[in-house]
Amino acid sequence: MDFSSKLLEKAVEEIALLPGIGKRTALRLALHLLKQPEEQTVHLSKALLDLKTRIVFCENCHMVSDTKICSICANVKRDKSTVCVVEDVRDVMAIENTSQYQGVYHVLGGKINPIEGIGPGQLNISSLVQKVKNGTVEEVIFALSSTMEGDTTNFYIYKQLENESVKTSTIARGIGVGDELEYADEITLGRSILHRIPFENSLKN
Ligand SMILES: [Zn+2]
Repeated sequence: MDFSSKLLEKAVEEIALLPGIGKRTALRLALHLLKQPEEQTVHLSKALLDLKTRIVFCENCHMVSDTKICSICANVKRDKSTVCVVEDVRDVMAIENTSQYQGVYHVLGGKINPIEGIGPGQLNISSLVQKVKNGTVEEVIFALSSTMEGDTTNFYIYKQLENESVKTSTIARGIGVGDELEYADEITLGRSILHRIPFENSLKN
């Protein structure tokens, strides 16, 4: 692509670094911004910068938050003895959208994936085990997608918790194998949390 402006070229290059955005789309977006009032681009830049510099991760559950403890963990109405283990922030959002779950979460930040070099040490697993060892957790619900990586992660954590006096369960699989939680419809996802089954039972399949 030939640019008459180095500044435009730079903007297009930066925008094109975003996932799913090719150079053509990046150029369209850059030209769109150029046509808009300056104020809009200032707001966009500020929102992006705030996203990166001001958002923190909840000290308790690792959910994105504006405060040290997220609004879910800080809510006195939430049942702190039930902890739902999810892969990432989007899963918390999906489950929250169902309005069927009153417990709290633990965001792992990924799944164990040896091929991509992601081991247990890179995920928020030890803080979960520690939480259980502290004795305030009565039930851990595994809500990872049922891919091979999800199953491996569930099983790894299950083994870590085996000798602790905590109930482990897994969401019922109305959700098909390999489906991501994010894409499950709210009713199905809501039901699958309510009708969760003991984790041991899921191992027999
Ligand atoms: Zn939290």
